[in-house]
Order: sequence, then structure tokens, then C-alpha cells
Amino acid sequence: MTRKAIYPGTFDPVTYGHLDIIERASALYDKVLVAVATGVGKKPLFTAGERVKMLKEETGAFGNVEVEEFNELVVDYAGRKSAKVIIRGLRMISDFEYEFQMALTNRKLNSKIETVFMMPKESYSYLSSRLIKEVAGLDADISAFVPKNVENKLKEKFEK
Ligand code: ADP
Repeated sequence: MTRKAIYPGTFDPVTYGHLDIIERASALYDKVLVAVATGVGKKPLFTAGERVKMLKEETGAFGNVEVEEFNELVVDYAGRKSAKVIIRGLRMISDFEYEFQMALTNRKLNSKIETVFMMPKESYSYLSSRLIKEVAGLDADISAFVPKNVENKLKEKFEK
């Protein structure tokens, strides 16, 4: 039996926090499918294609991680991909309420799929894509938060 997990999110853009969770998940599961949500109401800075490309570049070294777009209910997507586990990252207590609601809603929608929470390294526990975009737009040094490639892509976006 292949133990497969999906890690869904917006990843706008991928940060060292996301990559920390991906690394932990890749050590626990046979296959990890990073699923980039395209139909979110959040109005992302990067297109889905750009977000997938950046993630692929950063996860290429893991032999068991794949990246693709999705645009449906997470539990439907997981079921279609034969994944029994949804991975989510928990940073602060402030993440808890939303994640708790979402995990229980997903369980109601499909009780066969389990949500597993993982904590990143402490130094990444305050990182968020939203804040990184805010400070990158103001020309801050973000090299401690995102890989070089992503830093360059952010610079390009804000230069336009
Ligand atoms: P979403 O729109 O689904 O919240 P995100 O890309 O913001 O998408 O996050 C995807 C998942 O990664 C979520 O579970 C989120 O809590 C988690 N995550 C985001 N940043 C970090 C971080 N710095 N450390 C650990 N987990 C994180």
C-alpha cells in the first residue's frame, strides 16, 4: 500500500515555512502531492502556473513530492488521487481556529480522509506569504524567508 498525502494551499508564493512542512511530510509518507488551489477568492499575486513552477523548482530534490493545480473540494481531490491524508501546517495559535473548522468540515464531507497537522521549525513559525508580499513590496530583504528564485520572482512582480 502506498501512503499518499496531499498538502493543499495557495502558496502565493512558497516560503521556507511551506518547504519545512513539505520536507517533514516527505519523510513520513511515500508520496506527497502539493496541491495549488486555483479557485481561491484570495486574488493571488502569482498565477497558478507561476506558483506551481516555483514549487516544482524548490521541491525537485525530493524524490517523492509532486506539484499540481486543483480546483475542487479538497476532500474530492484527495479521494480522486487516492490520498487518505491532508497535511496542514500550524504556526501560531491564531491558525488553530480556522484550521480546526476546516478539518472538521472536511471530516463531515468525507470521514475517510484524515487531516494531519505539522509544526514547522520555530524560526519559520511566524512566516506568512501575505506578510512577505507586503514587505517585499516595500523593498525589504526577504532572503531569510523565501528561496533565491522566489525572491527574484517577487522583485520582478513589484518592478512591473
Ligand atoms: P491557505 O490559503 O490554504 O492557507 P497557504 O499557502 O497560506 O494556503 O498555506 C498552506 C498551508 O501551509 C496552511 O496549512 C498553512 O497553515 C501552512 N503554512 C503557511 N505558512 C507556514 C509556515 N511558515 N509554517 C508552517 N506552515 C505554514
